[in-house]
Amino acid sequence: MAGAYCRAVQKVGGIPVLLPAITRLERPLASFCQGLLLSGGGDFDPGFFGEVPHPALGTVDYERDCWEITLITKARREGLPILGICRGMQAINIALGGSLYQDLPSQYPVSGKGLVEHHQSAPGDQVTHRVKITVNSLLHQVVESTEIWTNSHHHQAVKETAPGLKVTARSEDGVIEGIEGKNDHFLLGVQWHPERLSTPDSHRLFAAFVRACRGKMDSA
Ligand code: MN
Repeated sequence: MAGAYCRAVQKVGGIPVLLPAITRLERPLASFCQGLLLSGGGDFDPGFFGEVPHPALGTVDYERDCWEITLITKARREGLPILGICRGMQAINIALGGSLYQDLPSQYPVSGKGLVEHHQSAPGDQVTHRVKITVNSLLHQVVESTEIWTNSHHHQAVKETAPGLKVTARSEDGVIEGIEGKNDHFLLGVQWHPERLSTPDSHRLFAAFVRACRGKMDSA
């Protein structure tokens, strides 16, 4: 895992604990951690949403997919805060029954000005496209803005949103850039990479997540 995720968690007072992909986890997550952060990574196996691989599908890791779905299911059941970043946001959508575009450039129906550059050529610590955020959403409360600039490193994206989720951020081409749960459980997914940015909204995102985790610790 990229060290940036650990540093981002540490910077706001959390202690990052890395979990290897193992086949079974019998203990409750809450017995050794207070929240779940899902990182970026490779493509999802399209079998999880009933599709065959598209020619532009990248490398998949079935074991990791299964592991992350297990973790999300457990964390939800235990009421632990969940933050999904890039692939992590897509993992949340898959775990709850949604689907993905396997390859945005060849599958996303574009209109108007066309597709925003979601696989940016600029360095990862630079912002390249805007994201509009729904007023009064959890994401809006967290970043304190209805429009932010983000970095972008993805060729997959959420297609059908899972029943338990709502879309709360999109880029100008309509691509889904943020999802969250429908109740007050802290369940948030962002399609960009706040861990590589030093913008105030990126800091607020990790701070809000760790704050929610700390709440879990005090009540345990
Ligand atoms: Mn993007």
